[in-house]
Amino acid sequence: MMQADVAIIGAGPAGLAAAAHLGLMGVKNIVVLEREAEPGGIPRHCGHSPFGMREFRRVLGGASYARRLAARAEGAGARILCNTTVTALHPGPKLELTGPDGAERLSARVVLLATGTRESSRVQRMIGGQKPGGILTTGALQGIVHLNHQRPFRRPVILGTELVSFSALLTCRQAGIRPVAMIEPGARVVARAGAAVLPLLLGVPVLRETRITGILGRDRVEGVVIDGPGGPREIAADGVLLTGAFRSEATLMAAAGMVLDPRTTGPEIDVFGRLAESGYFAAGNLLRPVETAGMCWASGRRVADAIAVHLTGGLPCPAQGLPLRIDAPAIRYALPQILFPAGPGFHKTIQLRVSRPVSGELRLSQGGDLIARQPIRALPERRVTLPIPRKLGEGPLSLDIEEDA
Ligand SMILES: Cc1cc2nc3c(=O)[nH]c(=O)nc-3n(C[C@H](O)[C@H](O)[C@H](O)COP(=O)(O)OP(=O)(O)OC[C@H]3O[C@@H](n4cnc5c(N)ncnc54)[C@H](O)[C@@H]3O)c2cc1C
Repeated sequence: MMQADVAIIGAGPAGLAAAAHLGLMGVKNIVVLEREAEPGGIPRHCGHSPFGMREFRRVLGGASYARRLAARAEGAGARILCNTTVTALHPGPKLELTGPDGAERLSARVVLLATGTRESSRVQRMIGGQKPGGILTTGALQGIVHLNHQRPFRRPVILGTELVSFSALLTCRQAGIRPVAMIEPGARVVARAGAAVLPLLLGVPVLRETRITGILGRDRVEGVVIDGPGGPREIAADGVLLTGAFRSEATLMAAAGMVLDPRTTGPEIDVFGRLAESGYFAAGNLLRPVETAGMCWASGRRVADAIAVHLTGGLPCPAQGLPLRIDAPAIRYALPQILFPAGPGFHKTIQLRVSRPVSGELRLSQGGDLIARQPIRALPERRVTLPIPRKLGEGPLSLDIEEDA
């Protein structure tokens, strides 16, 4: 059986940042397990910039950013094993994996889960019609364009207007693909205002309050049926690009029967990034869909700090944890899900997202007493943070929003 002090599953920004930071802190025998042929995670196939301002103080394209992250981790002493898929998690922690030499087992003092996120498929989005070729997620398109150097379609429709939808738009532009329209079921573009200007600049119409109700074509996509303010109609297109609607890549955890938060679709963590299962930690977009590469990198470093303390036996006992209850229907998720009486750990803030536009006051209470409050005015898909108070009491915690009338 292979042995490691820290085994990291996933060589994306979060896993590589953690590996580099742990190595620089003097932790030995760090191994990063990556199922793809190259390290770097999602940015590896994002052909566009901007990546790297926070990490390298310069604007980089995705592939060069990914290479630099991997070089930094290896420079700090971590071993990155590519073409290596973790297939099962066990208590211990122990892992089952398949690599170039076949099936292996690995035992580690700590396992960091950094497996990222994935976009929902057509089936998960319940879009009807035939099953022709030419229906892709952004990740699949980017792989085809940047890794295989192919152009899967020329005039697709893009479904969604989250931040990643604009990454899709940039990829199309680089590949000479001219989207027919961006289709947004909601009343407004989901991404921040800056990104929303991009379709205007590229001459791509954004159809709001519109749904795709069917896909036309038998072998290839020939068009889509949409239903919007002007009623149902068909538009010609040779592809459908499904963007956003992320889910945490938590398949391994679900198979191992680990605790998942139905709100985030990822693991429940405490302020140290620890899971309920002894020896397991988590970081990056696995925690919640979906943040930028820079945020995931920062999350990897934060959890590395916690792991370094854990390896010396310095973290508080998990039994002292105080679960955070969400009491506002407008809060889609909040994490970390478990706080500690001693206040912030390595997660200094509660991060949350709302499910609809909200304005009012965000309130953290303990045992009925208000212990933190701040104004909130937020749209869905915008990050909201609330600093965790320096000291907490012992009672149950509740997060709520008092909405403006
Ligand atoms: C299509 C798409 C486009 C995006 N574009 C941008 C962008 O332009 N800018 C931006 O800032 N953010 C973008 N994002 C957000 C992106 O998720 C983050 O930038 C960042 O890559 C997340 O880092 P991570 O380390 O958490 O996960 P990831 O980068 O997703 O890395 C996770 C890694 O884990 C590996 N893995 C998963 N399961 C296993 C297993 N069982 N065994 C071994 N390895 C495994 C995966 O192969 C992957 O390499 C995009 C996301 C998507 C899905």
